[in-house]
Amino acid sequence: MNPDKKGRQAVGNAFSKHSYRTEKAAVRTNRPPRPKTKQPQADACPVYRDCGACQLLHLPYPKQLAQKQRAVEALLKEFCPVKPILGMDHPLHYRNKVHAVFGIDQKGKPVSGIYQEGTHRIVPARRCLIEDEKAGEIIETIRKMLKSFKIRTYDEDTGYGLLRHVLVRRGFATNQTMVVLVTASPVFPSKNNFVKALRSAHPEITTILQNVNGRNTSMVLGQKEHVLYGPGWMEDVLCGLTFRISSQSFYQVNPVQTERLYQKALDLAGLTGAETVLDAYCGIGTISLIASARARTVIGVELNQDAVRDAVQNARRNAIKNVQFYCNDAGAFMVNMASRGETIDVVFMDPPRSGSTEAFIRSVAQVKPKRVVYISCSPETLARDLKLFKKNGYQAKEAWPVDMFCGTQHVETVCLLSKLHSDQHIEVELQMDELDLTAAESKATYEEIKDYVLEHTGLKVSSLYIAQVKEKCGIIERVNYNLPKSENSRQPKCPPEKEAAIREALGYFHMI
Ligand code: SAH
Repeated sequence: MNPDKKGRQAVGNAFSKHSYRTEKAAVRTNRPPRPKTKQPQADACPVYRDCGACQLLHLPYPKQLAQKQRAVEALLKEFCPVKPILGMDHPLHYRNKVHAVFGIDQKGKPVSGIYQEGTHRIVPARRCLIEDEKAGEIIETIRKMLKSFKIRTYDEDTGYGLLRHVLVRRGFATNQTMVVLVTASPVFPSKNNFVKALRSAHPEITTILQNVNGRNTSMVLGQKEHVLYGPGWMEDVLCGLTFRISSQSFYQVNPVQTERLYQKALDLAGLTGAETVLDAYCGIGTISLIASARARTVIGVELNQDAVRDAVQNARRNAIKNVQFYCNDAGAFMVNMASRGETIDVVFMDPPRSGSTEAFIRSVAQVKPKRVVYISCSPETLARDLKLFKKNGYQAKEAWPVDMFCGTQHVETVCLLSKLHSDQHIEVELQMDELDLTAAESKATYEEIKDYVLEHTGLKVSSLYIAQVKEKCGIIERVNYNLPKSENSRQPKCPPEKEAAIREALGYFHMI
């Protein structure tokens, strides 16, 4: 998988925030005809009808938001309340990452743009309303330079030609600009002069890379990469921290809304500074590092090596010491952690479009976080995973849709889950098992009582003390912890403050 974006493998739903637009090439959809009555925004886009990327551009922005709100509610309202969507003040030109596929038109002239949905016809994408304008200018410059540098665009059918795609990424806060030239072969004639000319036309470019992708694939980037100019990565600033981003690392495409999304995620996490936090699917460590100021320690896990390398550098760059990053599959990592009996206080998770896995969710439940903050770019897989969480004792509390992809039908959601109270969880299980458990002693286990007491008073109580208090309260026990191990042994007596704490727990579990 090339993990430069979320859910790239889920090509079937490819035109998401995270997709490179060419992925649509692999999609054969029966797209409903575009609405006939266009709104001014759609009119302003010269390729609105052909492109297919902005499915909602014909609607005024408030209506787009209402539509996304309804879509999220339809999927999530059975789990928790859905809060009002967080929209943008200026919902145009928000995309910091722009991708253009290169080819030739019917007259043999170079074109750049996007594949028309379901075809390999390139729709020239000029004056795109959602993409960064400067990035569009750079792509146009490159297209115009091709002739004088005798660079041919790649032909998918014959396999001839060099230039396949151009990717431009912009740091909205830093103005740094990365250009990735995706070529079919490593041989790039007169590349030094090409780079020189491009830089002189666009001094804002801070790094240029050549990515070699010789495969017949709908994936944009290949594995091999050469830095042609600059450091090979760029930086941007989010929530006051600086992040280095490599070409193959994931970075959210709408920085304005990303800050709001992260802020909401942090608020929901309710961190106090004392917590051990896990950031799963952490990318370049954005959430880990932003959360680190409010946590005791943060563990980030991410599959993509480049992103993990960025994350480690980002911790250094921002002088943050209480964060560790691991390069691993999030599911395998969690299974391992759970098997070692480790615990976590709060989990952030931000999986790709395909969602998380049962193994991951089961292990999360085993490390017993109080809260889980789930960030998702697919309400469908989010709904599926919330069901799994429920089965494992975690209840969704509230969900916030965030409009990261204005003009398109896609929507991000951040959802808070918390551990079900033990009594509720037991009730669910009782119902499932159809057991007739009415005796008070069946309400909570010794472990649950201990956990409750520790959480609410900070006191550690033994099973023996609980048994003594239960006996005083006239509750019959299942296990007789009262029996001395030998006839002569003297038993400690439960001190009054612990007795009070245990009584409170018994009251909480409706046992007295
Ligand atoms: N939280 C980050 C990244 C979210 S995108 C941010 O906001 O920027 C999802 C990330 O999950 C990508 O970086 C991708 O490489 C990573 N990923 C995909 N599958 C994974 C897996 N099985 N285990 C761990 N990380 C994975």
